[in-house]
Amino acid sequence: MTAGDDPVCSAKDCRAPASVALLWNNPKIHAPDRQKTWLACDSHQQSLTDFLAARGFMRKMERL
Ligand SMILES: [Zn+2]
Repeated sequence: MTAGDDPVCSAKDCRAPASVALLWNNPKIHAPDRQKTWLACDSHQQSLTDFLAARGFMRKMERL
């Protein structure tokens, strides 16, 4: 792990630089105003978005 400001993908075992932030909320365990953030690289953006969207957790995506 190196020190740095570059955001890294949140996908398991992925160390690629993140290009987007996925903002999500699980209404079963999080308060409505709580917002969780996952970072995703280009190759994981789709799978992470699909994962969240399939569960109804997806709020929005922001370019970093
Ligand atoms: Zn990744």
